[in-house]
Amino acid sequence: MVATRRQSAGGARAASPARRAKSPARKPAARAKSPARKPRKQQAPIEFEFGGPLGALATTVFLPLVVIALAVACDDDFCVGYNTLSEFRVPSNLVTIKAFGVVLGWLAFQALLYVALPGDRVQGAPLPGSTKRLDYVLNGHAAFWCSIVAVALADHYRWIDISTLYDDFVPLAVASCILSLLLSIALYVASFRPAKPLLAKPGNTGIRIYDFFMGRELNPRISNFDLKYFCELRPGLIGWVCLNLGALAKQREVSTSMLLVNIFQLQYVWDALYFERSILTTMDITTDGFGFMLAFGDLSWVPFTYSLQARYLASYDAQLSTLSLVVITLLHFTGYVVFRGANSQKDSFRRDPQTAIDRGTTYLQTKRGTKLITSGFWGAARKVNYTGDWLMGLSWCLLCGFGSPIPYFYATYFLVLLIHRALRDDHACAEKYGNDWPRYKEKVPCMFVPGVV
Ligand code: NDP
Repeated sequence: MVATRRQSAGGARAASPARRAKSPARKPAARAKSPARKPRKQQAPIEFEFGGPLGALATTVFLPLVVIALAVACDDDFCVGYNTLSEFRVPSNLVTIKAFGVVLGWLAFQALLYVALPGDRVQGAPLPGSTKRLDYVLNGHAAFWCSIVAVALADHYRWIDISTLYDDFVPLAVASCILSLLLSIALYVASFRPAKPLLAKPGNTGIRIYDFFMGRELNPRISNFDLKYFCELRPGLIGWVCLNLGALAKQREVSTSMLLVNIFQLQYVWDALYFERSILTTMDITTDGFGFMLAFGDLSWVPFTYSLQARYLASYDAQLSTLSLVVITLLHFTGYVVFRGANSQKDSFRRDPQTAIDRGTTYLQTKRGTKLITSGFWGAARKVNYTGDWLMGLSWCLLCGFGSPIPYFYATYFLVLLIHRALRDDHACAEKYGNDWPRYKEKVPCMFVPGVV
């Protein structure tokens, strides 16, 4: 994803035709009624992300093409190597009705699990500017296992052939991109309904393409069905595991690399769904609207680019030595320990700070009321959880050897995403915590690697 820092663009708000039309100051009648008008408040400048409206437009057009190009570039009898770019060709079956049926069927199956499976009912973080909280049902972990068992049984009894997920990868990716675009358009249009839904600050600038990209509405729901929460972890992440299994089924003799990629990534997805509750306090749920960025990211980008290692390994055996496999496995688990350790430390501290403090966790008390951890993982580096995440991603790429750059797309893109996300969060924390944030940064000066950066 384009990694631009937040940039201030004060002129853009004034230039928005939508805002100009809405401004009461332009109505002569309103002016006449209030002779002693107060001076108008200076509007805060819009803070654009992702390169502003132009960046949003470019990203909306460009990223689906990247998904499809990568899918095409990593085919069963040809995968872009370092010298083979000239052999690149576009397949004829880019768009098929079957692929649309599979993607829609998968979404419907996941929606059924979402509404039907039991789970704890919990409350999310307070909505912006209020004490109201939304209810969520935590049944993602059950949905994960139900999906895996259902797909395995369906394949075992030959109701489906899971290896067709590999054969139809390109039309499935195309169908998914088109459907997530349609969903984003529907979300954008629905956000203007007369019921006045709660809007997300980042996607409420009045600039259409930018708001479409960032998402206008914070928590679009159909009755109790929360569309953003549903899409965040289920269809895309569990779909990724299924695409991996499709690649595994395609390989004639399953290689150790293929087996490890499937196990490691399955564990990663399982972890996300097992700790589903922690998604409720992430910026995706609490701050960002549900627009193209999240809809496309969750439903198309994640399953179809994160599964490229397994797709590559279906046809190309990396033939790694036992020593390399052991080192890569250690790298994956080191990353996992850091990633899980840091996320769990913060999660349990946020839920029950006193117990953690009694056990020796140190912290900085902030004027905002919350405490910032200054020991353990969070005392080592401010975003060490991202570092652990990236190390895992790197280990998955390394399992593919060095025959092609395609499997390394994940580690490269993820590095950009995490740096951009870390800067976004740093900015958000500076706003949330004011002077306390530089004080915290003094105590924990490094962002990603303790003592280095
Ligand atoms: P974090 O889990 O880092 O959460 C950031 C928030 O944590 C801050 O806004 C602040 O919120 C709180 N915080 C920051 N520092 C401290 C501290 N010292 N003590 C206590 N609280 C603190 O970020 P994300 O939600 O972005 O990421 C969660 C996980 O998801 C990460 O491990 C990340 O790697 C992963 N991820 C994976 C992606 C993928 O595609 N695979 C994409 C994005 C994320 P407050 O103080 O208000 O509580």
